[in-house]
Amino acid sequence: MNTRLGRIQTVLGLINPAELGFTQTHEHLLVALIPEALRADCGGEPMTLENIGYFRRNWLSNPDNLILDNEFVAIQELKRFKDSGGNAIVELTPIRAGREPEGLARISRATGVHIIMGASFYTAAFHPPEIETLSEGTIAETFASDITTGADGTTVKAGIIGEIGLDWPLHENEAKALRAAAMAQSETGAALNIHPGRDPQAPFDAIRIIKEAGGNPERTVMSHVERTLFSLDDMLRLAETGCYLEFDLFGQEASYYPIADIDMPNDATRVDYLIGLIKRGHRDKLLLSLDICHKTQLARYGGDGYNHILDNVLPIMRRKGMSDHDIEALTVRNPARMLAFV
Ligand SMILES: [Zn+2]
Repeated sequence: MNTRLGRIQTVLGLINPAELGFTQTHEHLLVALIPEALRADCGGEPMTLENIGYFRRNWLSNPDNLILDNEFVAIQELKRFKDSGGNAIVELTPIRAGREPEGLARISRATGVHIIMGASFYTAAFHPPEIETLSEGTIAETFASDITTGADGTTVKAGIIGEIGLDWPLHENEAKALRAAAMAQSETGAALNIHPGRDPQAPFDAIRIIKEAGGNPERTVMSHVERTLFSLDDMLRLAETGCYLEFDLFGQEASYYPIADIDMPNDATRVDYLIGLIKRGHRDKLLLSLDICHKTQLARYGGDGYNHILDNVLPIMRRKGMSDHDIEALTVRNPARMLAFV
């Protein structure tokens, strides 16, 4: 009998969807956003009051900023989230990008916050060297066994597949990993989270590939919608594919985005998009998060911290007229439905 059916798998075991509470569906507590081969000699400047402003804006320019590897700091930061009313975090750090199953279990125990861990390969730069010779079936088995048996030789189990990293244009091996993820999704009944390439066509291509490989768009979460699509019309088109639209860059308030030549929206603009999507009937497919993966996003380094949505964004939502019922859909009911195994 499949005991996961209808339940949510955290790093400490299965829970019922009603236990989940306020949830951010795309975060990182322990992560190294530098490919393994480059990590040893990446250096990096310690952050000080003099340079923190520069590195908040140019967050890619300091390798040290891209590594979160201190469990003590993660626990302190997550306690702020808990104190503000947060109850669960989906932690999507991919394999070979600093994922630490037992570390996540310790952080969950120390804070009382539910943590749902991901199983995925990130973009091609992070793929294991043997990816060329791995079959889709073998990769699918890796993702599936993280859910059924445990990850990285531990007994800590993943509760979602993702974030699957895709570049633009799509790398051949990324397409292979994506097809494998769709296979593992249909085998396990887990949800699937996609990090699409930075092009408005990328999310649509990803959904097509998932369908062709036997995956379920309705059980798929498209991450980073607000740095990929720039009009409500395009977002409505994506919503029509049936996937979840995840607005997971809340807290990134600068229009400047160091990775691409785009105008990044701010939190108020994100809320306007959410209201537009809710008005057109898509309330039950929207998810929220901060995608914290740099030191400068942590309270310890002058950032807003994991509590930013609870403390700073919910008031914007209320001011703009979102009802408590709608807010609860985006932050409690949708995550619970998305994460429950089918
Ligand atoms: Zn992420």
